Amino acid sequence: MQPKDSTTNEGFKGFTNTNCPFLPCHEGVQREFNCLFCYCPLIAYECPGPYKVLDSANGVKRKDCSACTLPHDGFSHSWNFVQRWLEYPVVWSGAPQTEPPTRRPQPPSKA
Ligand code: SF4
Repeated sequence: MQPKDSTTNEGFKGFTNTNCPFLPCHEGVQREFNCLFCYCPLIAYECPGPYKVLDSANGVKRKDCSACTLPHDGFSHSWNFVQRWLEYPVVWSGAPQTEPPTRRPQPPSKA
């Protein structure tokens, strides 16, 4: 088996579950619909998506990601998007999305 970083097979970057009764669960996806990130890895982190903030029954703020296509739009495209944003994850503050959207966190500066 080839190491992950040298294989040319990119099958791990996404798939479309055509048997899912909710497909397409997000409107506006232009590329292959990627179901790999059905539960977005950025849900607990700052992200650039167009989420709305919900107050859950127990008082915890949560994201409503209904309008976001970023983790679903194309196998390679959405894979690369998630990997880039997980490089330097910043825990979500609970604040609404900004305009312009949150910028990708940069590496901590070396002292
Ligand atoms: S808004 Fe989009 S990128 Fe952000 S957590 Fe939700 S689904 Fe992920």
